[in-house]
Amino acid sequence: MSPDHGALLYEGKAKRIYTTDHPEQVLVEYKNDATAFNAQKKAQLEDKGRLNCQISARLFELLEAQGIPCHYLGLAGDTWMLVQRVEVIPLEVVLRNIATGSLCRQTPIQEGTRIDPALLDLYYKDDDLGDPLLTDARVRLMGLVDDARLSEIEQLARRINGVLQPFFDGLELQLVDFKLELGLNKAGELLLADEISPDTCRLWDQRSRDANDRIMDKDRFRKDLGGVMQAYGEVLKRVHTACPNPRNCL
Ligand code: UDP
Repeated sequence: MSPDHGALLYEGKAKRIYTTDHPEQVLVEYKNDATAFNAQKKAQLEDKGRLNCQISARLFELLEAQGIPCHYLGLAGDTWMLVQRVEVIPLEVVLRNIATGSLCRQTPIQEGTRIDPALLDLYYKDDDLGDPLLTDARVRLMGLVDDARLSEIEQLARRINGVLQPFFDGLELQLVDFKLELGLNKAGELLLADEISPDTCRLWDQRSRDANDRIMDKDRFRKDLGGVMQAYGEVLKRVHTACPNPRNCL
């Protein structure tokens, strides 16, 4: 069931954004489309939209309760959430607690190496350029954000990791790495935006020893391991026990 909404504002790879009667609030619809490798690999995964929406809602509420400012306002259906309208900063902020993925492809750092304090990597959000890795100096040169905003972004991202890592640990899920997007609302406040889900996090099941079986995130799709939605469903089941009553704003 879809809530009453206005015009389609934007359609991305995994979500659609619609206007509402309120100029500073928009509705986000989570889609079943799965993409990987800069959208070179595509599929429809039945129920992915609902699972990611429900997981994200609970994680936003967990973070909000710990004082992290989020764009999230509440759920508006199985695959819908109401959020504050923000201008998304074109940076992908990646926090890494365990080395894997691009870090191990691009450096000699061994897969599985623990990283403490977490490594924070910034990428330029631009599909045509393939989301390139940035340096602070490049961020400054490009004028993406000023130094004060950049350090605010880094502090916020580390605080988010500081909440999520022990939370997932309590669910016997290892938070390997994850990607954040941040935005500015009309008042100029920095808010956590986008989503936090198995599409944007790597989660390893501590109940499993097998290097493939333990994967509970989009790597199952990237690596053709099968059982993608079963893994996302298990993540929701565990997240749900820790946060059983997400707000419904309809
Ligand atoms: N990530 C994401 N969107 C992207 C790129 C990365 O959500 O466009 C997430 C990814 O799921 C992982 C983390 O960011 O949790 C680090 O990804 P990495 O840089 O290792 O890239 P990959 O190995 O997926 O190419």
